[in-house]
Amino acid sequence: MTINTHPALPDFEYILPQTLAEASEFLSSHSGEARPFLGGTDIFVRMRDGIFTPKFLVDVKNLDGTNDLHFDPQAGLTIGAAVNMNRVIASPEVQAHYSLLAEACRSVASYQLRTRATIIGNICNASPAGDTLGACLALDGTLHIHGINGLRQESLGSFFLGPGKTTLKPGDVVTAIHFPVPPKGCAGTYLKLGRNQLSDLSIVGVTALGHPDPSCQSGYRFRLALASVAPVPFVPAAAETYLASHSITPESLREAARLSADACSPIDDVRGSARYRKQMAGNLSARALAEVWKNLN
Ligand SMILES: Cc1cc2nc3c(=O)[nH]c(=O)nc-3n(C[C@H](O)[C@H](O)[C@H](O)COP(=O)(O)OP(=O)(O)OC[C@H]3O[C@@H](n4cnc5c(N)ncnc54)[C@H](O)[C@@H]3O)c2cc1C
Repeated sequence: MTINTHPALPDFEYILPQTLAEASEFLSSHSGEARPFLGGTDIFVRMRDGIFTPKFLVDVKNLDGTNDLHFDPQAGLTIGAAVNMNRVIASPEVQAHYSLLAEACRSVASYQLRTRATIIGNICNASPAGDTLGACLALDGTLHIHGINGLRQESLGSFFLGPGKTTLKPGDVVTAIHFPVPPKGCAGTYLKLGRNQLSDLSIVGVTALGHPDPSCQSGYRFRLALASVAPVPFVPAAAETYLASHSITPESLREAARLSADACSPIDDVRGSARYRKQMAGNLSARALAEVWKNLN
């Protein structure tokens, strides 16, 4: 086998549409040979490695509102697709109301990479290891998508179908993600286990968010989201239901962490074995839940 030590990008044609309608039309009529892109931090690596071979790359960064980040105290937060992660982290509104999202963005690679990388790119790449996906799930994100039939909204909860697979159809361009105002008094955390402290994809990623909720028997509702331990990032529903209906004690938090680990179906890969991942999903869930509980009191 010959190893190419200096792989390069294959040739492609750069397309800069003027409107979302133009972008969707082009992507739909060149289905299979055109892809949208934002920061390019995923797509260029995959093209260099020969995984993607698009003939056309459609730049969707400067289209109708995709550069906007907007917070409304009643409606919540809307982050345009082209807003890079450093802008999200630096936003005073994100820091004040969605600090979990800022924390998740901060865990992605380096400052330099985050000047290009976007949350929407992280989502559309649909890697089970995507670091911002758990926060977006826990904060109840909804995607705004422009397709050949116009705009629609889709809950992030049903968006991921498998590694690299989503519900997106030819012609679809995700334009933004919207988050409702977070529940009053909430606390959250993102714990990422990687092979090193900086700049590595997660072996396991656990997001936890909790808040007082008188409609639950326990008086609290917890949201958990797990990354890198299943084909898609997911919410371990049994753990959440357990915490909604049992008094919150060190024992019940540990039982929820066990249910969370039980829900995982990890694989062995270069970053870790399936057995290690499952074990660490339980350990990190326990740590994340204990930390959130401490911050709620
Ligand atoms: C050195 C390095 C380190 C990294 N470290 C991390 C890390 O620690 N954690 C992590 O989670 N990720 C990491 N990544 C992966 C990557 O940086 C992130 O996934 C990033 O968020 C991708 O955003 P982007 O804007 O660059 O996406 P792009 O590369 O532009 O696009 C990603 C994918 O989404 C599709 N897409 C883009 N925009 C749209 C749209 N508007 N509508 C529909 N589909 C679209 C593209 O076709 C492509 O398939 C790393 C990458 C590199 C190169």
